[in-house]
Amino acid sequence: MGKMTVIIPSFNEEDNIENTAKVIGETLSDAGIEYNLLFVSDGSTDKTFDIVESLSKADKRIGGIQFSRNFGKEAAIFAGLEYAKGDCVAVIDCDLQHPPATLIEMYKLWEEGYEVIEGIKSKRGKENPFYKMFSAIFYGIMSSLMKMDLNKTSDFKLLDRKVVEALLELPERNTFFRALSFWAGFKSTSVTFDVAERKAGKSKWSFSGLVAYAISNTTSFTTAPLKAVFVLGVLLMIFSLVLGVQTLVNYFIGVAADGFTTVILLLLIIGGCIMVSLGIMGHYLARIYEEVKGRPRYIVSKTTDEE
Ligand code: UDP
Ligand code: MG
Repeated sequence: MGKMTVIIPSFNEEDNIENTAKVIGETLSDAGIEYNLLFVSDGSTDKTFDIVESLSKADKRIGGIQFSRNFGKEAAIFAGLEYAKGDCVAVIDCDLQHPPATLIEMYKLWEEGYEVIEGIKSKRGKENPFYKMFSAIFYGIMSSLMKMDLNKTSDFKLLDRKVVEALLELPERNTFFRALSFWAGFKSTSVTFDVAERKAGKSKWSFSGLVAYAISNTTSFTTAPLKAVFVLGVLLMIFSLVLGVQTLVNYFIGVAADGFTTVILLLLIIGGCIMVSLGIMGHYLARIYEEVKGRPRYIVSKTTDEE
């Protein structure tokens, strides 16, 4: 028997907090699992944290922290890991899209000795086709790099204390929780769950936010795009060799190469490649700059009183 801390990242979720706390609390206590709930209000500007505070007064198992501003879900998860005291730690969305009943299944696996229990979506929830295509491309790249299928992974997980400590040891600020738990290794297993409809409120993701998230995750996890730049260079070199040979042959048979268009085209192609490559390198440079500054991942402005 061990205690479970449930981390719930919440950004402007005032309509969800109370119900979520009730549903998760009831599910766990019915199963006889000792728990506490840790709401991480990611710089919410609505009543999210006030509600957490009042719930916390009535029920000591509920607590929370408030960020000074919005730092993003990754930061919220890591703050939760830092503040969690349980022997095992779960991360679940505040909108009940992750079914709380699955927590029981995860807990049982943890008791059996598993240290990382991944929540895998049985299928992706309802999404618009554009979003679907985009995430398919992103996860396709990531999955082949990591040699595992990330498309159905989620942030819904249960981690053993040991794993939490290992993740907190990581010095970097730009993290990708979903993949890091795989990366960490340990004795792992997974459970599948059906993505439910969002209980109340709207999704916090905009399309541009998702693009930024995808790029940041790729660059924080792998240097493959940098290697792609090299591959691109090699391809261009081969192309220019072929073109050179062709021009030589033409010269000897006495056909003049038609110059102007070719020159402009080549300039454009090469220019484009250089710009893209510089952009990719610039992105990594920015990443290094961010890490070197060593700013904290998040700033906590308030916490509910601890027991
Ligand atoms: N979230 C957060 N910080 C953010 C955005 C979202 O803590 O900047 C939380 C949000 O409150 C929710 C979870 O992350 O509990 C998932 O967000 P959302 O439901 O908006 O994403 P979706 O389910 O649409 O992918
Ligand atoms: Mg959601």
